[in-house]
Amino acid sequence: MFPASFGYVAAHSVEEAVQLLTKHGEDAKLLAGGHSLIPAMKLRLASPRTLIDLATVPGLRGVRMDGNTLAIGALTVYADVASSELVQKHLPGLVDAASVIGDVQVRNRGTIGGSIAHADPGADFPVILTALNASFVLQPRSGSRTVAADDFFIDFYTTAMAANEVLTEIRVPLPMAGSGTAYVKLPHPASGYVVVSAGALITRQPSGSCALARVALGGLGSGPVRAVATETELQGKPLTPEVIAAAAARAAEETDPEGDTYASAEYKRHVAIVYTRRAIEAAVQRASAS
Ligand SMILES: Cc1cc2nc3c(=O)[nH]c(=O)nc-3n(C[C@H](O)[C@H](O)[C@H](O)COP(=O)(O)OP(=O)(O)OC[C@H]3O[C@@H](n4cnc5c(N)ncnc54)[C@H](O)[C@@H]3O)c2cc1C
Repeated sequence: MFPASFGYVAAHSVEEAVQLLTKHGEDAKLLAGGHSLIPAMKLRLASPRTLIDLATVPGLRGVRMDGNTLAIGALTVYADVASSELVQKHLPGLVDAASVIGDVQVRNRGTIGGSIAHADPGADFPVILTALNASFVLQPRSGSRTVAADDFFIDFYTTAMAANEVLTEIRVPLPMAGSGTAYVKLPHPASGYVVVSAGALITRQPSGSCALARVALGGLGSGPVRAVATETELQGKPLTPEVIAAAAARAAEETDPEGDTYASAEYKRHVAIVYTRRAIEAAVQRASAS
């Protein structure tokens, strides 16, 4: 498997990358970790004439605190997300997700920005970042704009990002006191990609009732899907096992998954209920310990 021939240019700033994207138009692609783009080129599913390397752009890698927000550079690899003390302390659900992506090589090369921009329906980060109410900073030709995760994932491999924009940062608001986050995934046994996954952010009041619930599901559509009925069912109720189970039972209500050779639509809906319950339970447990 060989890709079609292509040119390569290393960008040295985000501005330069945007300029190069604008100059080369549809014929160009940004290169981050290359773990999705290069295989797609080898399979001739993508044949960009020019690759613009982001790895040479300084300042796009790392995790920092910015007021009440955790800011993660787009070029931060999964292993660095998982081992970040800031992420471990404030967003363990993100550590859950970063730790189960692919294998060690993928986690050392794959970037959080590449995962978001690629918008694979079987990807992990889009799901947990939707649950965490993250937003994505995009740099067009001038200025920058920020798009909420809820509005970012449009369709299979399609996002709200324009062809000449660079995703520079992922911003995750720090959960309120009394919150817990968690992510669980049923991986495909061959590829490791998501069959079904669930991410949860739960805020627990001192009384034990639910002040806030955000739950997102993977594997049931073209991208992450909010489990709105589950969230509504939890709101204001005591976070008992019975309430959580009843709320999780509604997780797949708004979804219309497609069956495939590995899992039927009915099986995916069932797994979504089970995994939603597990994600909420884990988030509640962390909220109780916080
Ligand atoms: C063996 C294997 C197993 C995997 N398993 C999983 C898994 O279990 N879960 C999972 O979620 N993923 C999995 N992946 C996919 C992996 O996470 C990819 O690396 C990821 O989808 C893309 O990240 P990347 O940094 O490699 O991006 P690249 O492959 O470099 O780029 C992907 C796309 O995003 C665009 N892009 C990249 N960065 C930016 C940016 N900053 N701004 C704008 N556009 C950008 C590129 O132009 C390209 O179109 C697996 C991959 C492999 C090879």
